[in-house]
Amino acid sequence: ADSTDSAVLTRAEEILHKVYGHRAFRGNQAEIISHVSAGGDALVLMPTGGGKSICYQIPAMLRDGVGIVVSPLIALMQDQVAALRQIGVAAAFLNSSLQIEEQREVEQQLRKGALQLLYVAPERLTTPRFMDLLATLRPALFAIDEAHCVSQWGHDFRPEYIQLSILHERFPDVPRIALTATADQDTQREIIQRLKLEEAEVYRASFDRPNIRYRLVEKIDAKRQLLNFIQQDHQGESGIVYCQSRNKTEKIAAWLRTHGVTALPYHAGMTQDERRENQHRFITDDGVVVVATVAFGMGIDKPDVRFVAHLDLPSSIEAYYQETGRAGRDGAPADAWLAFGRGDVMMLRKRIAESNAPEARKVIEQRKLDAMLRFCETPECRRMALLGYFGEESQPCGNCDLCLEPQATWDATVAAQKLLSAVLRTGQRFGITHLIDVLRGNVTEKVVHYGHDQLPTFGVGKDLSLHDWRALSSQLISLGFLSVAGDGYNVLAMTEAARPVLKGEQQVMLRKLAERGKGRKRQLGA
Ligand code: ADP
Ligand code: ZN
Repeated sequence: ADSTDSAVLTRAEEILHKVYGHRAFRGNQAEIISHVSAGGDALVLMPTGGGKSICYQIPAMLRDGVGIVVSPLIALMQDQVAALRQIGVAAAFLNSSLQIEEQREVEQQLRKGALQLLYVAPERLTTPRFMDLLATLRPALFAIDEAHCVSQWGHDFRPEYIQLSILHERFPDVPRIALTATADQDTQREIIQRLKLEEAEVYRASFDRPNIRYRLVEKIDAKRQLLNFIQQDHQGESGIVYCQSRNKTEKIAAWLRTHGVTALPYHAGMTQDERRENQHRFITDDGVVVVATVAFGMGIDKPDVRFVAHLDLPSSIEAYYQETGRAGRDGAPADAWLAFGRGDVMMLRKRIAESNAPEARKVIEQRKLDAMLRFCETPECRRMALLGYFGEESQPCGNCDLCLEPQATWDATVAAQKLLSAVLRTGQRFGITHLIDVLRGNVTEKVVHYGHDQLPTFGVGKDLSLHDWRALSSQLISLGFLSVAGDGYNVLAMTEAARPVLKGEQQVMLRKLAERGKGRKRQLGA
């Protein structure tokens, strides 16, 4: 097998040089190509820009017959096919954008064996008619691009992808290669199960982006903090600022402009012309900052984005990773900066609880948010936490806020005990606002109504501010000492894990989230 392997690799390298003009394979491309060329199934997990395309294009050229590529987006197909034709590869696509005549022509080429690669929309591929046509052709391989679209719980779910399991039943001898840049372990399992890829070799490229420096600051006055960050570290450079709402993108962009930053808004509520114009200026001009909702970024390939800033908490680590990944594509240093407001968490929790989604979906969304929170509250290296989420082990990176800045910690044991006992003594039926009133000795109507001013914990927490207590509660939630229940009412309850803390058998050391830049200094326990 070794000699055929190396023969295949030699031919693969020839194609890499002559057709693509690249010098050498990257990462595990060579391995993937020889495995698939030899007829094996593969699941490829590789970040955007990692070089997934040649992993199926070269095997398709090396094997007899046409390589069939399933792709979910018409625009993506057209781009790929245009790029391939430009370098002399016989490629075509079949989707709903074609006229009947054009479709016939593609099918004719297909029958003649004149195509090396055919991009097809999933719903078209799985029609009985097309399956029968394929059966007469012996395809070289099936490539399933954006394979995470098969995941019901992902944000890009495409019902048509579920049908793709029939490829294996109809064509058991044709190798299949599924590719995605979404790498969390739930999605990976779902792809394997739904596409029947149990026998496939799994290739995982590193998701690390070493030139991106991850930094979190505690959100106090977000737009001021953002302005300081831009003025201190990124004056005149290109960047993207993500916000949760359309309205906010407009306001922040306008505000930044009054402070000398060339900032433009971008969101799905703007007209297509406005969006195109702002996107164009971002790509072609120097030093433009786009203030956008998550609608911005897909398919934008600007190499010198020097920072991505988040003014609001992203709803999942996948989203955070995708969005921050738009910084520093050129490999030069770039910043991923997030203003972390614990108030955002309650808002997001509430939004999930109150949405109309099915219960199972809400549970998943909540789990994703919890993972994002653990990332924000992690005491170790940010990169380790991020990569760890994708199942990748690593060492402290030396290029994130937690690695670079000595972390101030404080002994929060007594404060934690006070909060836990307030939770217990009020019967685990109240949210943090009321609990803080009890701890800080505020005589509110609700406190009086429930007789909580008579509790021994009433007023024992005057030494900490409202803000400190909120921070503490969300850290205790992230650490699993408190749980949140009650359909959006954010009722706090104590967990089993908190018992040793309450009994004084376990110390709680917490990280102070430092605020970077100017503005009021407010630190926990200080
Ligand atoms: P993905 O689909 O994973 O986002 P692409 O396949 O589009 O990534 O590749 C990203 C870029 O990297 C493309 O410009 C491609 O030409 C380039 N590329 C891929 N493999 C190599 C390689 N071995 N050497 C140099 N450039 C490469
Ligand atoms: Zn680090």
